[in-house]
Amino acid sequence: MRPRRPYRIAVVGAGPSGLYAVAALVKAEEPLSIDVFDRLPTPYGLVRYGVAPDHAKMKTVIGTLQKPFDEPNVEFFGNVTLGPGLDAQKLGQHYHAVIYATGSQQDRNLSITGEHLSVGAVQFVSWYNGHPDASELDFRLDCPQVAIVGGGNVALDLARVLLKDPDEMSRTDVPDRVLDRLRNSAVREVNIFIRRGVADVKFTPAEVGQIGQLKNVDIFLHDADLPSASADIAIDRRVQRNIAHFQEWAERETGDNGRSIHFWFHCHPLEITGASEPDAVHVERRPRGDTEPETSGIRETMPTQLVIRAIGYDAQPLPGLPFDEGRGVVPNVDGRIIDADTIVAGHYVAGWIKRGPSGIIGTNKSCANDTVAAVLADLASLATPSSAERSDVLATLAGCGAQPTGWQHWTSLDRREQELGRARGSERVKIPDLVSMLASPS
Ligand code: NAP
Repeated sequence: MRPRRPYRIAVVGAGPSGLYAVAALVKAEEPLSIDVFDRLPTPYGLVRYGVAPDHAKMKTVIGTLQKPFDEPNVEFFGNVTLGPGLDAQKLGQHYHAVIYATGSQQDRNLSITGEHLSVGAVQFVSWYNGHPDASELDFRLDCPQVAIVGGGNVALDLARVLLKDPDEMSRTDVPDRVLDRLRNSAVREVNIFIRRGVADVKFTPAEVGQIGQLKNVDIFLHDADLPSASADIAIDRRVQRNIAHFQEWAERETGDNGRSIHFWFHCHPLEITGASEPDAVHVERRPRGDTEPETSGIRETMPTQLVIRAIGYDAQPLPGLPFDEGRGVVPNVDGRIIDADTIVAGHYVAGWIKRGPSGIIGTNKSCANDTVAAVLADLASLATPSSAERSDVLATLAGCGAQPTGWQHWTSLDRREQELGRARGSERVKIPDLVSMLASPS
């Protein structure tokens, strides 16, 4: 019997969702040929560039995510960006099915006066994580007071990285220039503005606990209105554990450590002032929370020299595909992309672009598995692509000026980063600019 020609599948985005999808595809019993695209020459997306540098344990998931590339039917095309010459329609000519797993990479806006004086968490996180998009950015950290807006885990990551002992940060993968800024940092006070109360923050307890472990940092809670330990209130386990941490902090003796984190609950930024850089955030405190009338009238001016928005992310529309601006996702049903209720055959989404920026890394596994189940269920009914050879794909990439890098290029960059790490006593040091990343392996 003649062997069946494999179905050609493209996965766009080599972050956790994309690579969980590849892992699920590899396990399928169908004959598949899988091409993985990423705009960077590196795989792992959010794990490499979103997870905080000191969360090394979380990054061990890379061991799982890299496995599919051992398979002969899986190919990596790094340094390839979707655009007019490489949109959904073009990809559809080369593949039976395309899974988009491009995540959410844009900062949300506060829509307050002076917002332009703030930076988004994507920028700041990209800077300390050595993302090539941030290679031109420099945060001097010569500012004693930093304001962070938002009550999610990204806000906690930012506060922790800013106040962690630089010797501990030197054992992470932060680029040398970032470590240098952290070592010489003048930051003494981090104010976190959270618009809701202790029971409604999005923090997870492990991340809250890590704030409590920061050395020589005092923690202050404002308008926390903590329930007593014995109070019988209906809250879930996550919230209970968060509150237990807050209670422990509230009972701690604050020393004179010279460095502090202030959690301002029920606190709404109204305006940021300053000339070319911020000098203050003006807030309204509404200590009575939801029972507060529209305005409490309790206004305060919080001096600050750096304001970071950590209020969640949005996705960007993908060329040739519908986009739900309100939800910041590509509209879909169970991962199948829909356009005004009609399924766009052969095009799928997984991860944050499918469901919005929520959950932990592992949440993307079940999300990707569900999408792959939809792809496999549809396979037999999908149109055969008109240009199904890999050489056709390479011709298309060349036609739109792309210079793809392969898996071998990544493994050699990986080795270079590990060598840099050995010199600093860490597992790796990131190479943070695209030119050096693309340089031929030495
Ligand atoms: P998030 O968890 O959605 O939290 C966003 C925070 O910003 C919420 O407190 C939200 O308040 C607040 N907010 C939104 N709009 C606001 C506005 N206009 N004014 C004031 N506050 C506003 O987002 P995230 O922190 O960016 O995290 C994204 C995802 O990554 C989450 O799933 C998170 O758990 C995950 N993550 C995980 C880790 C980890 O596991 N270590 C680390 C980082 C990120 P409301 O609740 O009132 O809307």
